[in-house]
Amino acid sequence: MSGSALIDRFDRHVRYLRLSVTDRCNLRCTYCMAEDMTFLPKSKVLSLEEMAFVSKAFVALGVEKIRLTGGEPLVRNGIVDLANSLSQLDGLRELVMTSNGVLLDKFADDLVAAGVSRINISIDSLQPDRFKSLTRFGSLDDVLRGIDAANAAGFKKIKLNAVILKGVNDDEVLNLARFAVDHGLDISYIEEMPLGEISSHLRSETEVTSGSIREQLAADFSLVESSFNDPAAGPSRYLSVANSDTKVGFISPMSNNFCASCNRVRVTAEGLLLLCLGNEHSLDLKQIVRDNPGDLDGLKQAIVDSMERKPERHYFDPNDITITRHMSATGG
Ligand code: SAM
Ligand code: SF4
Repeated sequence: MSGSALIDRFDRHVRYLRLSVTDRCNLRCTYCMAEDMTFLPKSKVLSLEEMAFVSKAFVALGVEKIRLTGGEPLVRNGIVDLANSLSQLDGLRELVMTSNGVLLDKFADDLVAAGVSRINISIDSLQPDRFKSLTRFGSLDDVLRGIDAANAAGFKKIKLNAVILKGVNDDEVLNLARFAVDHGLDISYIEEMPLGEISSHLRSETEVTSGSIREQLAADFSLVESSFNDPAAGPSRYLSVANSDTKVGFISPMSNNFCASCNRVRVTAEGLLLLCLGNEHSLDLKQIVRDNPGDLDGLKQAIVDSMERKPERHYFDPNDITITRHMSATGG
């Protein structure tokens, strides 16, 4: 593995950038967004050229993996062109994406051709009515078609993401795993994080820990420690489902603080470099880029300097929304 110039005060090496290409979305998942959301005006969003320039700086500093996310990355005009230019950056090992899958039917082939090697698809329910109410108006069929299209397009790996909420979809843990195994996909279960005000439920009442999900899975599946070890995976923990191609991941920001192995930063659609998902420490890259057009070295230096301010860890409390930015505006 090559060296990273991005090393923080706790000797964590940043090799992974999550780039939010838009704060907009074609769904309104209840745990992610409030019913009424105000989105950024176009002038405040980084252009595709600015996103490519910022990415170039990160890769020159040792970032090896970029995830395109949002909001919903596939609603951003020009997303395939952006993927095309990022995948050609010298030193980038992997360009990946997280999508809700709704538009994948249309985009899967082009994304693979543009160099997106792996994709995470979010799906929290396999029941059409429940899917609709969780996403406020989404159609499960669209996502299932998207998953089929992704399978046919030849991504190296497809992973499902499911946020599990008590009393909402915690009875689908096993069904989602079965679906993943039957389709040869990986799956990650994610604990809900208190990011942004939401209107549908109290997060303190819907908490489900990764530990209890693992217990549910153990009733039907034999989970074995995975030899899979992606150096860029950072805090995700994976187990293999015996006699299958499926790995199960647990993303446990609430029950098991994983900050010591954090290897990532995020850039929002607005061009804010977020040094931690659960803190407000940030650097306005948009201003730097717009004030100093073409100055790659200046931008790189500002990013290197920002590592001094990367917080040691997050402190999430489901009863207390200290972070007002929603996940959709953060880049999940
Ligand atoms: N729209 C795309 C999608 O849904 O996959 C990409 C962006 S979304 C913000 C990325 C991931 O964050 C999704 O898997 C979603 O379920 C998850 N997410 C959103 N809000 C969350 C929250 N409050 N806590 C935990 N995960 C959340
Ligand atoms: Fe949109 Fe993804 Fe948030 Fe759902 S989780 S509202 S699909 S950004």
